[in-house]
Amino acid sequence: MSIAENYKKIRKEIPDYVTLVVAAKQRTKEELEEVIDAGATDLGENYVQEAQEMHEQLGEIAKKVKWHMIGNLQTNKINKASGIFDIIQTVDSYEKAQAIDKRVEASGKSIMPVYIEINIGSEDSKAGIKPDEHEPFEEYMKNLIQDISKLEHIRVEGLMTMGPRFGDPENSRQYFRRTKEIFDKIKALNLPNVSMKTLSMGMTNSYKVAIDEGSNMVRIGTAIFGKRK
Ligand SMILES: *Cc1c(COP(=O)(O)O)cnc(C)c1O
Repeated sequence: MSIAENYKKIRKEIPDYVTLVVAAKQRTKEELEEVIDAGATDLGENYVQEAQEMHEQLGEIAKKVKWHMIGNLQTNKINKASGIFDIIQTVDSYEKAQAIDKRVEASGKSIMPVYIEINIGSEDSKAGIKPDEHEPFEEYMKNLIQDISKLEHIRVEGLMTMGPRFGDPENSRQYFRRTKEIFDKIKALNLPNVSMKTLSMGMTNSYKVAIDEGSNMVRIGTAIFGKRK
């Protein structure tokens, strides 16, 4: 099947309320054009440099979609990132939020929506906040989000998690369930200047389980474009 067919098939199969973010890392301009032409609304990039190159190559077409930063954001790239991305999904500390906040205005925006990235399995190989290191975790998250909510040019709009990537997706279920629990608790607090709208979890091997467990945003690459090199 073609990229366009893959995209449309997944789009049809998941519920309307679930945003499909197309994970674009290592893909070419032609591949991105095809998926945007097929109706893609949101693209996720892992590297600022790559996102910038794609932006330039796509020109006007780039404006048809929202750009999500889904990779680890280095402090020295935040300046560039603020200009390119519409949403930063990978905020995992107050310091990072503060660094973004300082650069939003200069990039011509008034607000940058962000998600807080949780490393729900507390895996050493992954970015994001590890619950193991911050017990009791819900209390930690509440305080962090409250602090970030006071920054003028940032708005927390959700949570993001990866979860284990390979193997039986059923093994991810408990992690997604736990993330949804945390999401619901923070949402129920109705913190000022926070709008907990989005729970970003689920990738090619796990998106069905993630949606089952309450995800309303999935990030999919392989199932649309095929295997990465
Ligand atoms: C690459 C990537 C994805 C998509 O992974 P696939 O298995 O190719 O669907 C999702 N989220 C993040 C953060 C990624 O880096």
